[in-house]
Amino acid sequence: MMAWLRSSCWIAVLSLGAIQALDASIQTVPVERIKLIKEIQARLNISFQCEFSISIGQTRKYAMANSSGIIIVDRAFLESADRGRIFFAIAHEYAHAYLQHDVRLYEHLSMPIGQLPPKNLPEIRRRFEKEADGIAARKAKEMGFPIESILEFILTQPDAEKGFHPDLRAYCKPRERADYILAVYQSS
Ligand SMILES: [Zn+2]
Repeated sequence: MMAWLRSSCWIAVLSLGAIQALDASIQTVPVERIKLIKEIQARLNISFQCEFSISIGQTRKYAMANSSGIIIVDRAFLESADRGRIFFAIAHEYAHAYLQHDVRLYEHLSMPIGQLPPKNLPEIRRRFEKEADGIAARKAKEMGFPIESILEFILTQPDAEKGFHPDLRAYCKPRERADYILAVYQSS
């Protein structure tokens, strides 16, 4: 189950390896990027009224989170992406953590098969991803991060679910996803 979660979604449970990677990786990240992370953390914590913490490590994607409020942003992504992309990836993870999506998904996975047809799971994951996108879009607007780089981020990243049947996708197709994010941003 864990491999499935990690390969298809930004929600993931921290591994010991990820935690051990933090100290070594932080040294190579430019000071300006560390400041950016601290600024984003402070502003999102106030906005969500929580005390989550952002660390730098290695992830298979851009960032990941768990419900205990630890967000890990990928070092390579942090070094190469612009402010808008970094903010969006982190705010998306904050939303997952704040809404405890990993716990809720696990509850669904743990249900006896008779109570929940398996076909509902991708639908639940899709709903969670859309919810996290919407919240991240609202926070981006609230905090003045530009929508252009966020849309470019969504539209230019490789579609890991290319060729999947729409019912089995965790994310909407990139164009659809970008349109939704833009709509939320503009209406916030
Ligand atoms: Zn996500």
